[in-house]
Amino acid sequence: MTIVKSRFTVPVPRCSLQQWVFGSACDPLPDRKAFIDPDRPDKHFLTLTDYRLLSKRVALGLQKAGLKTGDRVLLFSGNNLFFPSVFLGVIMAGGIFTGANPTFVLRELAHQLSDSAATFLIVAASALPTALEAAKTAGLPRDHIFVFDNGKAGGSDGTRHWTELLSGNLAQAEKWAWTEPLDPDNTTCCLNYSSGTTGVPKGVEISHRSYIANGVGVVFNSLRHPEQPAKRERARLLCFLPLYHAYGQTYFAVNMPHMHTPVYIMPSFDFVKMLEHVQRFRITTLACVPPVVVALSKSPLTTKYDVSSVEEIFSGAAPLSSEVADAVHDIFTSAFSSTATTTTKKYPFLLRQGWGMTEMTCSTTFWDPDVRTPQLPGVGELIANCAGKLVALDGETPIAKPGERGEVWVTGPTMMRGYWRNPKATADTITVDKDGTRWFKTGDIGYWDEFKPGAILHIVDRLKELIKVKGNQVAPAELEGVLLEHPEIVDAAVVGVTIKGREMPRAYVLKAEGSKISEREVAEWMAGRVAPYKRLTGGVVFADAIPKNPSGKILRKILRERAKEEVGDI
Ligand code: AMP
Repeated sequence: MTIVKSRFTVPVPRCSLQQWVFGSACDPLPDRKAFIDPDRPDKHFLTLTDYRLLSKRVALGLQKAGLKTGDRVLLFSGNNLFFPSVFLGVIMAGGIFTGANPTFVLRELAHQLSDSAATFLIVAASALPTALEAAKTAGLPRDHIFVFDNGKAGGSDGTRHWTELLSGNLAQAEKWAWTEPLDPDNTTCCLNYSSGTTGVPKGVEISHRSYIANGVGVVFNSLRHPEQPAKRERARLLCFLPLYHAYGQTYFAVNMPHMHTPVYIMPSFDFVKMLEHVQRFRITTLACVPPVVVALSKSPLTTKYDVSSVEEIFSGAAPLSSEVADAVHDIFTSAFSSTATTTTKKYPFLLRQGWGMTEMTCSTTFWDPDVRTPQLPGVGELIANCAGKLVALDGETPIAKPGERGEVWVTGPTMMRGYWRNPKATADTITVDKDGTRWFKTGDIGYWDEFKPGAILHIVDRLKELIKVKGNQVAPAELEGVLLEHPEIVDAAVVGVTIKGREMPRAYVLKAEGSKISEREVAEWMAGRVAPYKRLTGGVVFADAIPKNPSGKILRKILRERAKEEVGDI
């Protein structure tokens, strides 16, 4: 057998995403908090009912402002309490939500705005100047720009304040029920951007059904075990992951409200504040990216705070080293058991690494709660309704030998519909079997120790060009494009190199003849044109030539090995 199936087949409801989150448009919801501002917890929060009502008001406001079914709305903002309501409001209105990284510079925002052809832009006040410029490039009228903050900004320059979307529609929203999509399988609700295997960032079309299938897979696992109902009652989560990215978005705006689990939303990541909030609010679960787990393992502050409430830590978006995992496991196991009761003693602290990607909505693997140790580089077993296989690097030969490595291909209802308006990229990444099964080629290298349902997948390398910086995607093709815009750069290639456990972009550059440009100037050229996390922190190297195959494709493997020899971890 070459295909590894999930152990579980779980029905995926045929409805809208919002129907799955709230159960209904108007029926009473439990009196529980959905989102809480940890800096003002007593006054600044939204209950589940508030979340639904505010989303409905955003939906009605957008429809009144002219939004038509299938229109895209781009949200360019950091996290705040209202972010999830804009997300679901757009979807309730029949629109398609697309979120941009709040640190984007003009060029990056303009790309997403024009690529998605968004007809509305909702933007944090601090980012308004960038947004206005990007909107000009994309030809978006100013009265389709809404300023998203608590103040009163917006208006004088032709833009509007986002609360205008809510004005006068409270009574109507209370009674209003959204229109259910006729075909949730083929109705896109979300465009999350990802560069995929190759090239620049592309819109990943996620349907209502895929989004729900992702939630069903995660929730099913959370509720399956005997201790889970009690655990669910206790659960309090802290969100410091960005809500524009699939990881934060699926987890905090969708799955947790579906489970009625309260989420404390931080505006951005801050290590000390995170520890303060864990202690003060008795946070039970931390969803992290590896750099946060590294900080927890290394900082002496971790044990200065009371972290005994933390029952589980998830790490995803990039590989986690076993050294770090072991250290965190020890710290938190000892803190948790110091206050454990007879019940919780049976279920000590858990650290788990998950694996997923934007193209599969988000979560692709999970750990059974009975598995107690991290078992790295294991990323768990495939979530419900999904299957996977390994293919040799020739792109064809199936692998069925335990321990043998290959590219991981996955299939299941969580798979994207395709890349937005990009059939070529879609065809390059999704292969359709003779029996009609669509396989997504993940570009990740992994292995299974056994080929049976529920086997633990191990991810050990990346075949695709993608570089991951603190969990954020960096597309080499995008950085190469920026380098080639420089008049004195003739050719360039960017690869990732891991230095002290952190992946960083490193550029190999061919200068024009006679050019006196320095490495520093190249790095500065980049720094002025990309978000901070995409900067060339792995260094700049002048090369005599960029290695390429006869058809002109950059031979990245050679450069990755060279970078590793020059500056990388051994
Ligand atoms: P994104 O679409 O931004 O979530 O990025 C998905 C990619 O991140 C995957 O295809 C992997 O290359 C990488 N990734 C995610 N989780 C892990 C993990 N646990 N270990 C190794 N790589 C990971």
